[in-house]
Amino acid sequence: MKYYNLKDKEEVVDFKTATIKGQGKEKGLFFPENIPQFDPEFIKNLQQYSNEEIAFQCMKDFVSDEIPSDVLKQIVSETVNFEIPLKKINENIYSLELFHGPTLAFKDVGARFMSRCLSYFLKDENKKVTVLVATSGDTGGAVANGFYKMENIDVVILYPKNRVSEVQEKQLTALGENIFALEVDGSFDDCQSLVKQAFSDDEINSTLFLTSANSINIARWLPQQIYYLLALKQWQKLEKGNPVICVPSGNFGNICAGILAHFRGLSAEHFIAACNENDVVTRYLNTQKLESKETIPTLSNAMDVGNPSNFVRILELFENHFEDLKSKISGYSINDKKTLQTIKEVYEKYNYLLEPHSAVAYTAMEHYLKENPGKKGFILGTAHPVKFPDAVEKATQITIELPKALENLMKNEKKSTEIQPDFEELKRFLLNKN
Ligand SMILES: *Cc1c(COP(=O)(O)O)cnc(C)c1O
Repeated sequence: MKYYNLKDKEEVVDFKTATIKGQGKEKGLFFPENIPQFDPEFIKNLQQYSNEEIAFQCMKDFVSDEIPSDVLKQIVSETVNFEIPLKKINENIYSLELFHGPTLAFKDVGARFMSRCLSYFLKDENKKVTVLVATSGDTGGAVANGFYKMENIDVVILYPKNRVSEVQEKQLTALGENIFALEVDGSFDDCQSLVKQAFSDDEINSTLFLTSANSINIARWLPQQIYYLLALKQWQKLEKGNPVICVPSGNFGNICAGILAHFRGLSAEHFIAACNENDVVTRYLNTQKLESKETIPTLSNAMDVGNPSNFVRILELFENHFEDLKSKISGYSINDKKTLQTIKEVYEKYNYLLEPHSAVAYTAMEHYLKENPGKKGFILGTAHPVKFPDAVEKATQITIELPKALENLMKNEKKSTEIQPDFEELKRFLLNKN
C-alpha cells in the first residue's frame, strides 16, 4: 500500500516511511492510496474468526509485504491482547469498553500497534528515533506505556499543566527511562503547535530523527479500525440490524478510523461525532464552515481540541461531498453540566458508570435516538472512570477504587520538566536531552 500526502499529492510513500516520518511535507497527513474492501462473507461471519485473525485481516492490506505475515500476526495479537467487551447499558444503547488495556484508555490499541511497527522498522536501521507527541491527556500515557524501554526510541511528551487528571499525569511522568515528560504552561493546542514547529525546524531535524505518535501517524490511526470489527462481531450476536456508532471525538482520529472501516464494508447505520463544548465539527455540520477555535477546557479533557487534525481525512474519504458526509455523520456538542447529569442519571437508572468522555457520547446518542426512533447502537467507552475520579465522584458521590495495576504507578514519583509555551525552550530541551 502507498500513502499520499494530503497537502501535496505528489509525495507518495510506503507504510514504513509513513510510520517513521509521521507526517509529510508541509505537515500534511498521509492517506492510503486506495481503500481495500473487506470480503462481505468475512463481515457477515465475524463470529467465526478469533480477534487476532480479525485484526490481521483488518491490517494486512495497509502493511502489505513490508512486515512479514508472521511478524504482523504477532504485532496484532499484542495489540488486542486485552478484553474489549460490548456491554449493554439499556434497551437501545451499548458501550464498547475500550479501557481494559494497560493505561485504561482506547489509545492503548493504536499506541501498541505503532510502537511495535516502529521498533520492527528500526531494528536494522541502526538509528535512534525521538517520538515527539502532544497530549490532551490519554495519548501521553498510552504512548509512554507502548514505547517504554524500547531500544533506539526516546519519547518526549508535551502535556498542558493542570489540565490532565492525576492518573493521567502519573502515567506519563512516572516511568522515566526513555520517556521524557514536558509540562507546558499552556493549553493542548499550545502543545500541539510546539510539536508542529519542532517538525519543521531545520536545526532539530538535522540533529534528531523526529517522528510523531499522535493519531496523525498512520500506524496509530489505522489499527483503530480493528475494534469496530470486534464490536460488530459481538453486535451481530446480540442484535439485528446495523448499529448506530457514537464516538466521543477530539482530534477525530478514532471516528475517522471507524468511517474508514465502514467504507471498506463494515456495517453501520450511522455515525455520531460526540463533542464537548469544543464544537468545531458540530458547527461545520450545521454551517459547512470549518473554523478552528481557541480550546475551551472541559471535564472531557482528551477532547479539548480546537483544531481537529484528522478531520481532513474524513473530508478526503467523502471526497469533500458535504451532503454525503452529512447524511452519514451527525454531530452534537454537550456541555459539562449535562455531562455530569448524564453520569448521575445513567448510574442511578442503569447502574452503569460512565466517565466524562463516554458520558458525552451517551448524551449525544440519546439525542440522536430521540430524533430517530427505533434505532439502536453503541458508544465507544474510551476511558476507565478511574481516570477521571473528580468528575465521576462529583456526579455520583461514589468513590472509585484504583485498580491494582495503578496503585503501584501512583506511588512512583512524578518526573517532568516545566516549560513555557515557547518554541525556544522546547528546542533547547530536545537538543540537550541526551
Ligand atoms: C483521545 C480521546 C478521545 C478523542 O479521540 P480522538 O481520536 O482524538 O477523536 C476521546 N476520549 C478519550 C478518553 C480519549 O483519550
